[in-house]
Amino acid sequence: NLTTRLARVVKTLRGEARLTEANTQEMLREVRLALLEADVALPVVREFVARVREKALGEEVAGSLTPGQALVGVVHKELTALMGGDLGPNASELSLAQQPPAVILMAGLQGSGKTTTTGKLARWLAEGGHTQGGRKTGRKKVLVVSADVYRPAAIEQLKTVAAQAGVDFLPSTADQKPEDIARGALDHARRYHYDVLIVDTAGRLGIDEQLMNEIRALHAILDPIETLFVVDAMLGQDAVNVAKAFNDALPLTGVVLTKLDGDARGGAALSVRHITGKPLKFVGVSEKLAGLEPFHPERMAQRVLGMGDILSLVEEAQKAIDVGEAQKLAAKLKSGDKFDLNDFRAQIAQMKNMGDMGSILEKLPAQFSQAAAQVDSKQAGKQIRRMEGILNSMTNLERSKPELLKASRKRRIAAGAGVQVQEVNRMLAQFEQMQGMMKQMKKGGLAKMMRAMGG
Ligand code: GDP
Ligand code: MG
Repeated sequence: NLTTRLARVVKTLRGEARLTEANTQEMLREVRLALLEADVALPVVREFVARVREKALGEEVAGSLTPGQALVGVVHKELTALMGGDLGPNASELSLAQQPPAVILMAGLQGSGKTTTTGKLARWLAEGGHTQGGRKTGRKKVLVVSADVYRPAAIEQLKTVAAQAGVDFLPSTADQKPEDIARGALDHARRYHYDVLIVDTAGRLGIDEQLMNEIRALHAILDPIETLFVVDAMLGQDAVNVAKAFNDALPLTGVVLTKLDGDARGGAALSVRHITGKPLKFVGVSEKLAGLEPFHPERMAQRVLGMGDILSLVEEAQKAIDVGEAQKLAAKLKSGDKFDLNDFRAQIAQMKNMGDMGSILEKLPAQFSQAAAQVDSKQAGKQIRRMEGILNSMTNLERSKPELLKASRKRRIAAGAGVQVQEVNRMLAQFEQMQGMMKQMKKGGLAKMMRAMGG
C-alpha cells in the first residue's frame, strides 16, 4: 500500500531539505501505483498526481519532517480535500428541510445495496440520527415504498427490512406501474403526515436506457430533495462508468458507498467524487441495518492511504500524555536511568487518560485491526485498574528496585491488591516487556518506533 511504498522512499530521501523536481518524481510514481492498487480509476489518478505535484514542489520541509514525510502530508491533505473535505464539515448531512414529506429517491445498479440502504436510512432517521448544521433534529416519521416491480421478491425484501427498521411500509404490487406507485406513495405520505418518504427503485445489472428513463420519470413525479446514488465499493475501477451514467441521467444530490466492510480499498470513493462532484453522504459497513455510517473524508483518505487513523491516534496520544511526565521520562531515557515500576505506573495512568481503549484500537491501521477486534475494551479497562491496584500495593522502594520482588513480597502485594500471585507475575512480565521496549527506544529513538508502527 501507499504507506509501505512511501516508507521506502522516505528512507532514501533523508537529509534533503525540500521537495524538488527530482525527489518528488520518484515519490509520485509510488503514489500513482498505490492509488491504482486502491482501485482509483486511471484518469482520476492522473489528475490527482498532477495536483499533488503542483502543491508539493518547493514546499519547505517543516521542522523535523523529511521530504518523504512532507509529501505524505501533501498527499493526505489533497486526498482529504478531494474526498469532500473541501465541501465543509456538514457536507455529508442529508437535507430534509422542506415542507414534509421530504422525499429521498434511491438510485443505482441492481445489487448495489439500494434496498438494504433504504432500510438502514429509515432506521437511522426514525431513531433520530439526522443532523442539520451538526445538530440533531429528532426522530422522524418515515415511510418506505418499493417501485421495483420487476422482481417480485424485491417488494417483499423491503417489507422485511422495514419491519426490522421499525418504520412504516407502503405495500405495492408487481402489476403496478412504478410511476403510479410513486404518486400513490406521495399522496399517502402527505395525508398521514410523514416527515420522510424513501422510495426504493429497480436496478439493472448494467446501465440501460429504459432503466434511466424510468428513474428520470420517478424523479419528475417525486421531486425529491435527496437523490442518492448507491454504489458498491467493490466495483473498483468500474464505479467511474456507472457513476457517470447516473450522474448524466439524474440530478444526484449525494452518494452512498456500500460494502466497505469487504476488501475494497475505498478507491471507488475518490473516483465517484471526482466524476459526480457530489458529496459522499454515507458508507455501508455491514449487511445489518446498523451498518450505516456518515461519511468522513479524512477517514476515507486514510483508508486509501492504508494508514488507518494513525494521524489522529498520534494526536490523541499527544494530547493525553501529560507533558511534564513525558519530559521526565525523556530526561530519564537520556540520562540512562533505568525504567522502573514507578515509570511503569505513570505510563499506565497515561494509558487510562487516553480514554476508551476501544476507540483507540479502532483507529490503528488495518494490519492491527484484526488483533484489535479481539480485544474487549471494557476488559482492557478493568485490566488496567487491576494493574494499578497491584502497583499501589508495593512500597516506593519495591517499585524503584523491582529485583527485590521475591516470593514473600509478591504474596504480600497480591493479598494487598486482592489478586492471585500469578497476576502479580503476569504484570511483572508485562513490565519487563515494556522495559525492553524502552531500551529499544533509547537506541533507535521515538521516531523509529513511530515509523515501525506506521509501516
Ligand atoms: P439492491 O439490488 O440495490 O436493492 O441491493 P440489496 O440491498 O438487495 O443488496 C444486495 C446485497 O448486498 C445483499 O445481499 C445485501 O445484504 C448486501 N449489502 C448491501 N449493503 C451492504 C454493506 O454495506 N455491506 C455488506 N457486507 N453487504 C451489503
Ligand atoms: Mg433492491
